[in-house]
Amino acid sequence: MKKAKKEIVGDGGLGVSEAEKVDIMKAMNFSQGHWYKCPNGHIYAIGECGGAMQESKCNECGAKIGGHSHSLNATNSVATEMDGSRHGAYTLAQDPNNFDPRDWMGDH
Ligand SMILES: [Zn+2]
Repeated sequence: MKKAKKEIVGDGGLGVSEAEKVDIMKAMNFSQGHWYKCPNGHIYAIGECGGAMQESKCNECGAKIGGHSHSLNATNSVATEMDGSRHGAYTLAQDPNNFDPRDWMGDH
């Protein structure tokens, strides 16, 4: 039996359901603002504070991802479609009016 390939990133579509995204984020203890995209639209996540602290390579295409000192590589962008956030978590953390994690992590 052929096993379906399961991955977060995909071909334009996200490849994960809404419920799966929540599961992933809960499992990783992520709130909003930790999801980013490589220059080719592949989604990846940054842990810790959500700020880009080191550069890495996209698993899918090898493009440069991440950044330095909380500054995201200019070719990358926030993956708004993953969690609805428009800014990285680090930015959000600087603006408490922007986002209340309790709204998002509450019981559904
Ligand atoms: Zn990529």
